[in-house]
Amino acid sequence: MIQEEDLTVDGAMTDPKGDRSLTPGKQADPDLFTHVVEKRKDGIVVRSAKAHQTGALNSHWILVMPTMTMTKEDSDYALSFVAPADAEGIFYIYGRQSCDTRKLERGEIDVGNKEFGGHEALMVFDNLFVPWENVFMCGEYEYSGALVERFAGYHRQSYGGCKVGVGDVLIGAAALAADYNGAAKASHIKDKLIEMMHLNETLYACGIACSAEGHQTASGNYLIDLLLANVCKQNVTRLPYEIARLAEDIAGGLMVTMASEQDLRHPEIGKIVEKYFKGIASVPTEHRCRVLRLIENVTLGTAAVGYRTESMHGAGSPQAQRIMISRQGNLEHKKKLAKEIAGIKD
Ligand SMILES: Cc1cc2nc3c(=O)[nH]c(=O)nc-3n(C[C@H](O)[C@H](O)[C@H](O)COP(=O)(O)OP(=O)(O)OC[C@H]3O[C@@H](n4cnc5c(N)ncnc54)[C@H](O)[C@@H]3O)c2cc1C
Repeated sequence: MIQEEDLTVDGAMTDPKGDRSLTPGKQADPDLFTHVVEKRKDGIVVRSAKAHQTGALNSHWILVMPTMTMTKEDSDYALSFVAPADAEGIFYIYGRQSCDTRKLERGEIDVGNKEFGGHEALMVFDNLFVPWENVFMCGEYEYSGALVERFAGYHRQSYGGCKVGVGDVLIGAAALAADYNGAAKASHIKDKLIEMMHLNETLYACGIACSAEGHQTASGNYLIDLLLANVCKQNVTRLPYEIARLAEDIAGGLMVTMASEQDLRHPEIGKIVEKYFKGIASVPTEHRCRVLRLIENVTLGTAAVGYRTESMHGAGSPQAQRIMISRQGNLEHKKKLAKEIAGIKD
């Protein structure tokens, strides 16, 4: 149905989690993890919230999953279901983003990227009723670990595509800034752009690799290679920061000190802004302003929510991938190989 009707589904995994050192049932407030509060003949009643929900307000359905592996004593928290995004019993508190006020500015240049944006929201389940036909897991805690591992795996794979797309835009913007600055021919600028492309394609290669190394499961769909998906996401927690650092280097300080679009268009001071923010003579100052604002937007502005912090924490903070890499990395096999080559016999 989702594919045929081309619907958008919010993958709702992250619980508020309260005190991170305590399990769900030991929290001072039991609602800090999503749980079932009533089982009825026709369905279940759910209370709690999901935090950080990307695109929640423009999704048609929500797919709720446990935030982590649950044990027997927390089986009320082993819960997975779908619900229409506008079902009675769900409401949203829209997230504030850094530089939100920029959206209130007049004109379009200072917004940096007026075409695309994103949002996150807190999704609250206020005694939400879910009919049994929409419930996939309710108490089967033994499967919660595998579900979290697999969903996170797909999500970690996907970052090898989406963050790389943003990276392409940022590399292009940095190259334009160098062109407009008259610095494009400098060997260190060329080398920095090469480094940015190398880092970005490394992320892409990982995304492709964990897909190509995937296998078909008994249900018929394909599962990505979990080790490589976690390596992909671990790289995503690092390389975009280096790409952003290089973009800021190439852009120059004007990306954060430049006058506003209102000043650029001002009847009196506009020509002064035009004159002193000019780069190479053949390119209008406005082009330079536009591209610098785009770099600011991706590295420091609203798009940095996705390019930086989501790269760090989305689909799990870096430590979550390291745990998976340690589980999937098969260190014993590697030791066996080394012993064989070194001629060590036990
Ligand atoms: C922009 C953005 C978009 C997102 N979109 C979605 C979405 O659409 N759907 C969704 O479900 N989630 C989404 N997430 C949530 C994301 O999965 C979480 O941010 C991530 O799992 C980390 O959880 P947290 O933010 O609560 O961090 P925290 O749990 O507060 O972690 C902060 C730090 O504490 C450490 N830590 C936490 N608990 C422990 C512990 N028990 N022991 C040791 N160290 C610990 C972590 O490793 C990390 O270093 C999004 C996040 C961001 C930033």
